[in-house]
Amino acid sequence: MKTNRLIGFALVVVPFLVVLGARLAELSDMVACGAAVSVIVGLGVLLISRVTRSDRTLPMPFAPPRPTDIGAQAQTALQSDDPQFSSRTFIEQCEGLCSSMGSSSLDALHPHLSDGLFQRLKTQERFGAIPLSAFVGTKVSSTVITSYTVGNAWQQLTARVTLGASTHTQTCSLTFLRRRTAKTQTSRVASACPHCGAPLQLTATQRCSHCEAIVNSGEHDWVLCELSPGAHQLGRQSDVLDPEGVRLRDAALSSEELEDRAALTFWRWVEARRTGERARFQRVATEGMLELLDAFTAPQGDVSLGNVELRALRSGPAGDEAHVLLRWSDGTQAPRAHQTVFKLRRPTGLATPPTLGLSTSRCTRCLAAITDAESPGCEFCGASLHDAWCLHELEPFHSWAEGAVKLRRQVGSDWARSSTEAQREAALRVLASLAYADGSMSAVERERLEALGTSWGLPASLVQSCLESRQAPTPSLSRELALSLTHELAQLAMADGKIQPATRKRLEALAGGLGTQVELGRALVKLLSERQ
Ligand SMILES: [Zn+2]
Ligand SMILES: [Zn+2]
Repeated sequence: MKTNRLIGFALVVVPFLVVLGARLAELSDMVACGAAVSVIVGLGVLLISRVTRSDRTLPMPFAPPRPTDIGAQAQTALQSDDPQFSSRTFIEQCEGLCSSMGSSSLDALHPHLSDGLFQRLKTQERFGAIPLSAFVGTKVSSTVITSYTVGNAWQQLTARVTLGASTHTQTCSLTFLRRRTAKTQTSRVASACPHCGAPLQLTATQRCSHCEAIVNSGEHDWVLCELSPGAHQLGRQSDVLDPEGVRLRDAALSSEELEDRAALTFWRWVEARRTGERARFQRVATEGMLELLDAFTAPQGDVSLGNVELRALRSGPAGDEAHVLLRWSDGTQAPRAHQTVFKLRRPTGLATPPTLGLSTSRCTRCLAAITDAESPGCEFCGASLHDAWCLHELEPFHSWAEGAVKLRRQVGSDWARSSTEAQREAALRVLASLAYADGSMSAVERERLEALGTSWGLPASLVQSCLESRQAPTPSLSRELALSLTHELAQLAMADGKIQPATRKRLEALAGGLGTQVELGRALVKLLSERQ
């Protein structure tokens, strides 16, 4: 095609040049003739190049991007830990669930849904909507796996489902989570307990009557935790601020569970604000939140919840806090978008119960499902339902973000912005080796280094391995990072109150290796004068 055009172009231009050249030659002015010919040839070349260039950028008929089916990739990745996993079987189960969603009651679907999602559907139903109407009277025409991730605690698969016939279709994204250690059980039928395989019969506390497993925890099988129209995909955008090292103290804590719990409190908050009834809400909210319930504008009209994302973990005298960002909308005519940080609080000294998983609406002592009873405690064991993550405060995201920027600057210093993970790891090993200089690492030193490693975004397991380093590596650092590390070394050396001779010797050797002896001297003088 391109060659044809070029030939055609040449056929038009060449005779034209020949004729023109001949006429100019008759004027016997050879110089003018040569110049004119070269100008014309140049123009011709330019024209040709323009034609060929526009050939390359010829507009293509508009084609919408196709959903990428990465089922094969997901299968390969998941099979290394779970040889029985098959993306085909997963898709069949997903389609089976879609058809149940069109025909079953919400309570019958509950064993397959996380508590956060279940609460959302219940709340929507309570306000007169048919939450799963997209699945009623229609069939799944195709399903593709569009994403999979394997995190520290959870595996996540997202499937895009197309519903309806060719003329009238709609798509829906379904996100499933499963505990990382869970394995596919090929012999199980859909209506069986995902743990023991017995026909599923639930007790009053919503557990398998045979083995007591919590069926929608995600500990044993995939649980649906997100359901959104269209091609909406959840993506983790920012890392979690954790300056006090909450995750180091509570290894079972995971963002997925906290996000599901936050979604649960959101829907109960919506209910409480719209109906004025507080009984159900007070089972997942603190006293402080109940007092401030009316301070935040009530949602109006159609409420929908988009992305839910854990952004920070804090720890203080009153307990731990999880700051979860919720993107949601409401409105009677046009939807209004909101971004609100839901602050969940948990009393001091509590850790994540290991078997609850995504069944986030449960008593943390006896693991019974939280019912709609009005008592403030669990009606099965009497424990306070506030011994769990409860909604404590709401804050608009823009004001929260201002504080977070300051905090990030404070804790991350130069490191988070300008170093590689390998540099941060080496720096933490250098610091640990200093802590061992006097024989052993004290609790104060350990706490300090754990918090530092976490604020640098190092994985908990790596932080722990760094804290075992008695030998200092020689890190390759920029001048700024070397100075910053020297300052951390000086502060660590002073953490116990006074510097032992052995520590002093190691400190000077380390600063020598970093080329920062002079700065170390200054930092120590400054720290000593601040103490007095
Ligand atoms: Zn069972
Ligand atoms: Zn209980």
